[in-house]
Amino acid sequence: MEKQRLWDETWLLFADMMANRHSKCASKSVACVIVKDEKPISIGLNGTPSGHTNCNEIYMKRTDGFYKRAEAMTESELDLLDEQVRLVHEGTLYLKCTDPYDHHNWSKQHEIHAEINAIGKLAADSTNAFGATAYVTHSPCHACSLALIASRVSRVVYAVGYEHGDGLELMRESGIEVLHMPLEKMSKNAL
Ligand SMILES: [Zn+2]
Ligand SMILES: [Zn+2]
Repeated sequence: MEKQRLWDETWLLFADMMANRHSKCASKSVACVIVKDEKPISIGLNGTPSGHTNCNEIYMKRTDGFYKRAEAMTESELDLLDEQVRLVHEGTLYLKCTDPYDHHNWSKQHEIHAEINAIGKLAADSTNAFGATAYVTHSPCHACSLALIASRVSRVVYAVGYEHGDGLELMRESGIEVLHMPLEKMSKNAL
């Protein structure tokens, strides 16, 4: 296998493992690993800023939709209590979200996307992503694509499409090489 492709797969699998093991978002496990000169220089996960309540401490995703911890609900949400589907998980009362966009709207206000977290950490380290490759589990949304363009990465490799829209064309128009590399076909164990 071509050397570059083998490393692309390796870092993307690493990003996938980071996301699946460490993301605290109840909806999606996303990670971004920025690699420069063959070294990972930053790792970002999707989630709330450190010290803030984690998404999975408020929400729980089940096959029938999202559930929200009763303690985290507002008065007006609790007024609807009697009409809502409830469940007790590990001694805590959860109520089914009536709005399918409940988590999505909360997330937009409280969770930082993995790419922004990864770029933000670089700023704190006073290093930069110029010419680096960003490995992301999900295709970057418009806002993250703009941030990646601004950070001057030269390549973006992602595994799955993000259903809320992406900025892949935007990045390509800015001269970034964008590569879609689905992970399912990669793992020998999956064959
Ligand atoms: Zn979340
Ligand atoms: Zn994003």
